Amino acid sequence: MSQAHQVTVIPGDGVGPEVVRSAVRIIEAEGVRIDWEEAEAGLEVFKRGDTSGVPAATRESIERTRVVLKGPLETPVGFGEKSANVTLRKLFETYANVRPARELAGVPTRYAGEGVDMIIVRENVEDLYAGIEHMQTPDVGQCLKIISRKGSEKVIRYAFELARREGRQKVTCATKANIMKLTEGLFKGVFEELAPEYPEIVAEHLIIDNVAHQLAKAPAQFDVIVTTNLNGDIISDLASGLVGGLGFASSGNYGDGVAIFEAVHGSAPKYAGKDVINPTALILSSVMMLRHLGEVKAADRIEDAVLATLESGAAVTQDLARQTGGDVEQAASTSGFTDAVIAALGHRPSRGGRRERPTGSPPTALPGWDYSPAHYAGIDRRTIGLDIFIATEIGSDVLGPDLERIAGGTPFELEMISSRGTKVYPPTGLSPDDVGLLRARFVTRDRGVAVDAELLELQARVAAQHPGWTHIEKLHIFAGHDGFTKAQGQ
Ligand code: NAD
Repeated sequence: MSQAHQVTVIPGDGVGPEVVRSAVRIIEAEGVRIDWEEAEAGLEVFKRGDTSGVPAATRESIERTRVVLKGPLETPVGFGEKSANVTLRKLFETYANVRPARELAGVPTRYAGEGVDMIIVRENVEDLYAGIEHMQTPDVGQCLKIISRKGSEKVIRYAFELARREGRQKVTCATKANIMKLTEGLFKGVFEELAPEYPEIVAEHLIIDNVAHQLAKAPAQFDVIVTTNLNGDIISDLASGLVGGLGFASSGNYGDGVAIFEAVHGSAPKYAGKDVINPTALILSSVMMLRHLGEVKAADRIEDAVLATLESGAAVTQDLARQTGGDVEQAASTSGFTDAVIAALGHRPSRGGRRERPTGSPPTALPGWDYSPAHYAGIDRRTIGLDIFIATEIGSDVLGPDLERIAGGTPFELEMISSRGTKVYPPTGLSPDDVGLLRARFVTRDRGVAVDAELLELQARVAAQHPGWTHIEKLHIFAGHDGFTKAQGQ
């Protein structure tokens, strides 16, 4: 007999324990041998004063087992500041969030019969989710959008490898590179660099807003979509809505060492303990987990049983009854639906079955991958100036001449001042709203190299006159390319 798998199971908050129990019961009924290590995270942990929401014992368990099945976790306002879900994903560098959206027989949608069957691969660690936020003044906030080449390369490679393994034809990269040229643009650039390594797969780039439009209009055109974190957050929920809603949306968070499987939905507290929630999302997430563990046959059988149950209408949960105009009072309970799936093990739906994967499809993990920081370390870099952000009540028409005076006698000149990214000095004739935070850009005359002592002296001079300065950015040129963007209107 094969050895039991070790899996950390986190029941979670609200309806979490009910849906997790449902998946565990089905896996046990299928006969897969798993030693479940139960661990805690979320609400109760925050309440005990652990502001991470993920106690050390849970981290240790995951380090041992490397595989997690988890219920949703609540982030209570006033206890912990960060979401325990995001913390878990980041702690174990699960950089690829994979969310399939496939039409399910028995779950009516506006798109029924069109063949919606896509996987959204969302970068899971970087972007605005790095969570680096600062108030620049009492009423101006800022959130840093961090996109790295390494992070982008990992998740884009993951998406192409996934497409290859699952016999998919096309990978669409969705970004806002037209507006955020250095961050979303970096992601797009990496996608274009890697695509030729996968010649059998069609690679296309679409702007994210067009992807949203196309998803609503003709979703069956998509196969695999790879995108940055916030874009992915939004369009993957949109995709869930195309195929029946949160009750059916499964996901896996994959890293090089650890994988975490969870439903897309939250803890739905108003349904907690009532045995009414639809457990399909978590059951299908556990099917993804079984594939990851190499239990491909059991995964297929459980997926078949879920699809057969949905198709037959043998057990219709409340959310589905509501969508189909059925009798909500008579709807199946969480445990009743689970019993029906267990009874259907060994059955297959008559139509709209699971996706057939190429034979021998290996577990979902990225093959050996090598990133070479040395290549980037070797890139020529020069610093030519500073952006200094200044909280000030004086307008740019007064600040501008003052900063020109301050820069006098230094290697720098004031190139421009912008307000929320739009150039306001030298005057443009336009007067965008002043929110009390201006950015002054100083560059060396002739764009010569500036050394730190010069930059620091400039900063000190500005700070001496304008104590409201709040942050600075060095202006770099990498291999001849500006590492900063122009202001609007510059
Ligand atoms: P939610 O997903 O918990 O619930 C929104 C609504 O969707 C529910 O009221 C219900 O009508 C419906 N719904 C959700 N899951 C369903 C299911 N399985 N079957 C039937 N209907 C279902 O979202 P929320 O109310 O915004 O969030 C509640 C809490 O969950 C918050 O604390 C939030 O931070 C947390 N959350 C956690 C995760 C996670 O752990 N990954 C994800 C999202 C939200």
